[in-house]
Amino acid sequence: MLYFDHSATTPILPEVAQKIDHTNREHYANPSSIYSLGRKARSLIEKARQQVADAIGAKAEQIYFTSGGTEANNQVLWSKLAEKKKHIIASSIEHPAILKALKRIESYGITFSLLPVDNKGTVKADSLEHLINENTGLISIMFANNEVGTIQPIQDIVKKTSSLDIPFHTDAVQALGKTPVNVSTLGVDYLSLSAHKFYGPKGIGALFVKNKKMLKPLIIGGEQESGLRAGTENISGIVGMGLAAELASKNQKDCFEHLNILKEYFMENLKPRFPNAIFNGNHNHCLPGLISISFPKNRSDILMAKLDRKGIAVSNGAACNTGNVKPSVVLKAMGIEDDLNISTLRISFGNGNSLDDVDQLLKALEIII
Ligand code: PLP
Repeated sequence: MLYFDHSATTPILPEVAQKIDHTNREHYANPSSIYSLGRKARSLIEKARQQVADAIGAKAEQIYFTSGGTEANNQVLWSKLAEKKKHIIASSIEHPAILKALKRIESYGITFSLLPVDNKGTVKADSLEHLINENTGLISIMFANNEVGTIQPIQDIVKKTSSLDIPFHTDAVQALGKTPVNVSTLGVDYLSLSAHKFYGPKGIGALFVKNKKMLKPLIIGGEQESGLRAGTENISGIVGMGLAAELASKNQKDCFEHLNILKEYFMENLKPRFPNAIFNGNHNHCLPGLISISFPKNRSDILMAKLDRKGIAVSNGAACNTGNVKPSVVLKAMGIEDDLNISTLRISFGNGNSLDDVDQLLKALEIII
């Protein structure tokens, strides 16, 4: 199988899998237990917390482990219920873990406004001032989009809004390991991460919070994670995430170069074969290795099925049910017409892909289209 869907998830690194296995076997004690086995488990969690913090330029005490990016995003949003300012601004191309959660918390008294994007998927930062009001208690704009790869000018937006003292969250789930992520440079108050997007395990993520006072627990129970995320810790997942984060940040430059080479090679070789194909997103500010491409008059679910039969895995941003493909919310927000929207594939290369793999993908596309 040729796998080109690394934005959906990445294969776990062998050394990370090994570490998880070892942790599960040897360090099974409850980290809240005060005997030495428990203390050892606790020390492993604290080491991983430091590794995650180092990967994004944070302090260990600013990192809270969650069950993934979805929970990290939800925790920030639901936290706002307990605060006076109950208006939230988010971009119109956020992941459903923001957009759907916003719709849900609306019924509990939160109001929200969506910041539009241009046809390349970059937020219209100038529109922000029209959306901000005296009740705005959070701005949430993703670092990089998961369907088209566009990287948002987070640092600039934070600078522009800093005098207003509105907490800023960024969903950086797609970014770590592919492009530098540093909370001090960005100036954000909250940042979400998910281990399975950078060759770590699934079901574990983290939330960076600049100041603990800015967060309320979403999962209530024991006193784990300084009382901000109850439940016995997923020790092996946390340990795996720590190692994956360390490796992701150590190898980020190499990964960036490799993925860019694959992407450029694909784009250059695709254009002469498919002059009608349209590349979506902002090519000057985008994730390496992610390509959103529309093949007019070719439904993406059919293309995906045909590629699958050739042993090739790619994705489309659109939600697919059998025999029915719904236009993607992200592409819609970028103004892409429905016909083209449902004819769009997302190809996301990973560290394990080679130029030879890309050639095979190009050949397969030529045969099926
Ligand atoms: N945010 C973005 C931008 C994502 O791409 C994803 C996963 O696809 C998530 C959040 C959700 O992360 P998780 O799968 O860890 O819950």
